[in-house]
Amino acid sequence: MSLECVQCGSQFPLYPLKSKCEKCGGALEYDIGLPEKYEVEFSGKLRLWKYKDLLPPVQNIVSLGEGGTPLHKAERLAEELGLKELHLKDETRNPTNSFRDRAGALLTSNAVDLKYDMLICATNGNLGASLAAYSAKAGLICHVIVPKLVDVGKLAQMLVYDAVIEEFGETVDDSIRRSEAIADETGWYQATAELNPLVIEAQKTIAYEAYEQLGVPDWFIVTMGGGGTIYSIWKGFKELKQLGITESLPKMVGLQPEGCAPIVETLEKNSSEPVKILSPSTRALAVLVTSPLQGELAMKAIKESEGLALKVSDSKILEAELQIAKLEGIFAEPASSATIAATKELVKNRKIDKNDTVMCLITGSGLKATDILQVLTKKQKTAVLSLEISTKEKILQTLNREDTYGYDLWKKLGKTITRAAIYQHLNELSEKGLIASYRKTGRKFFKITERGRKALRAIDDMKHLL
Ligand SMILES: [Zn+2]
Repeated sequence: MSLECVQCGSQFPLYPLKSKCEKCGGALEYDIGLPEKYEVEFSGKLRLWKYKDLLPPVQNIVSLGEGGTPLHKAERLAEELGLKELHLKDETRNPTNSFRDRAGALLTSNAVDLKYDMLICATNGNLGASLAAYSAKAGLICHVIVPKLVDVGKLAQMLVYDAVIEEFGETVDDSIRRSEAIADETGWYQATAELNPLVIEAQKTIAYEAYEQLGVPDWFIVTMGGGGTIYSIWKGFKELKQLGITESLPKMVGLQPEGCAPIVETLEKNSSEPVKILSPSTRALAVLVTSPLQGELAMKAIKESEGLALKVSDSKILEAELQIAKLEGIFAEPASSATIAATKELVKNRKIDKNDTVMCLITGSGLKATDILQVLTKKQKTAVLSLEISTKEKILQTLNREDTYGYDLWKKLGKTITRAAIYQHLNELSEKGLIASYRKTGRKFFKITERGRKALRAIDDMKHLL
């Protein structure tokens, strides 16, 4: 087994741990030297440590019960998307509710083996939450550097697991540089995903499990931030092939939010220099990375597998998040809901055939990303707004049949809202010129105007269109 540079091929001893190639600065990767014949059965109860022999060596295992997550057959969602078979690898079911627990377990185990007592990581949230929990379990001190914008739920996890938290930088790119400088100075264990090649090893077990649960899908869909995750899954499937366990490989789809898509744009422009995003914007904070250090690896996975890369808008991501929840009972964070938005797009454009088998990686729980809750609250407001419109519409319809006065209107509308609300609506409709009033037999009567009739017809047309 060796640690190898992805760019120049230089080899290094496994330990002490290095975060970059000493010769060219490229990313490092483990070549675990796969056994000729693999002893462990690819069946039975799933757990991360089941695949210990396919991971770099570990003596002291730190575990909270990671891995062995369910693969849901998403039948209702598949039908909605027009697909025959769709599966969700539900990593929200890990101990701290994200896929990063696989890395959390392996990295803290490694830190204990190497007799570290402090570790440091820069993170957008999930890895920090996970390392904080595993450090607590192992009795290590966990330093976490987070950027300005981080999902509040993840921050709460880090706090409660007693991590030392420092806020540094606009995006995680800045935090990563800060963690490098601190690790250089202090000699702490470097646990940042982009700077520790064990993370890829830990996460490749997702592919092993997916294989045990279903086999090799036609497509595997992953949201990209730093670029390492899609590559880990690709590596896992490739190893299964090298081991002679399977013949086929999936096509890898990597996607990024429209407002921050450096890897996708580098691929689209076919540029040799990686694209850097200057003013990023997305609600999917877990993948808000402007200058991904493992972008090369992500592109390698997409190209080698003859896969695809695409961008998805935040509104489509949110829509998908609600759809997964409503149709499948899974609350996924925005970054991973994006996989469903992408699948929808690719089925629509016929890039994915409706008979293909698709697997999406659901990386983390929606409860960690509270900005989704804010958006849902706004949605609540629009629901109230549309109720108001329908009350106004009912008033217009009533007045279109006959003129009448306020109290009578209130009765005709079934007394479902207060009389004060009725008068409020009548005032607003008058101000807009949709109705007019006149006095008759001592009462104030209301009638619909020509403008009001036009508005009613427009509402009707709209309904037919919808
Ligand atoms: Zn190198």
